[in-house]
Parts: sequence; structure tokens; C-alpha cells
Amino acid sequence: MTHNADTHKQCSKCKEVKERGEFATRKDSKDGLRGGCMVCLSKWRKKHYWETRELRLAESNRHHKENKDKINESRRNYRLQNLEKVRAEERVASARPNNRARMKEYNKRYRAENGDEIRAHQREYCIKNRVIISAKASKYYLDNKVMMRIKGRQRYANNMVLNQEKARIYRIEERKTQLTLVLLNEIRKVAK
Ligand SMILES: [Zn+2]
Repeated sequence: MTHNADTHKQCSKCKEVKERGEFATRKDSKDGLRGGCMVCLSKWRKKHYWETRELRLAESNRHHKENKDKINESRRNYRLQNLEKVRAEERVASARPNNRARMKEYNKRYRAENGDEIRAHQREYCIKNRVIISAKASKYYLDNKVMMRIKGRQRYANNMVLNQEKARIYRIEERKTQLTLVLLNEIRKVAK
């Protein structure tokens, strides 16, 4: 298929001939454009984003853990050196009319409008990453097993004390009722 190279270009991915305006620019290429059209580029970006998501998260977690002290210190230093600026930014942020509510509203609308697409994405994501997801859950369980057990025992112990206390109060009330009846009986006998 021939086309006018001044106005058109064939996409290297989908092979469609499209107008030059449908390609993103690239300074170091022969014709000043990227090989793939913008539709293909955006598809690739989406796919790439999801495919590399776990890796990126793991990498950033690792980096953060390994450099926690350094990161915290540099944040502290930045804050101290730019105190006025940081405070002004914080004031602006907190004065903004309920950003959180606006985001919530926006997300709600977005989910309502794109529910099917989001669910499809999540399904695909779960299928693709099921090994990672189940490994994470197992690791979480192992990491928190001891803690969960301690908390469970504490809850049990707390409830036991509470239940014992309730039972004690109940027994006292019962005894008081019995004594009242005995007293009433005696009073009646004396009155006769
Ligand atoms: Zn294309």
C-alpha cells in the first residue's frame, strides 16, 4: 500500500496508515515521529504499567526500607530549610475545600461510569498475578501470625474477665432478690 509520506505514515505496530498528526513526535528519529501511532502507544503504556506494577512497588518498597533513615533525615532537613514555604503549602492544602470529599466524589463517579472496565482490569490483574497475590497473603500471614495469635488471646482474656464480672453481678442481684423476699415474708409474719 502506498501513501504520501509527507502527510501520512504507517504504524509499525498496527500497520495502519494514518495521518502524521496521529503519531507522537520523536526528535532523534528520521521523520521526527515515533514508529507506533498514538493509539498503539497508549495501549502499550497501559499494558506496560500493569505488567511492571508489582516490580515497581517491590523496588520502591525495598528502596524505602533500605534508606528509611536517610529519606526521613532529608525530609526533615528540607522541611527545616524551607520551613516558611512548607508551612505556606500546608496552609494552602488544608484551606482547600475538602479535597478528600471531592476525590471521593470523583472516584465514585469514575467507578460508576467505568465499572465494567475496572472489573475486567482487576480480573485480568488477579489472573496474571495470582502467584504473587497468594504468596503475599501467605507472607502476610506468616509475618503477622504471632501478632494475630497474641491479639486473639488478649481478646479472649478480656472477654473472659468481662463475662466473669457480669456473672458475679448477676449472682449478687439474684441474692438481693432472694433476701428481699425473705425479708418481706418475715415482715408479714411479724405483722400478723
Ligand atoms: Zn498503531
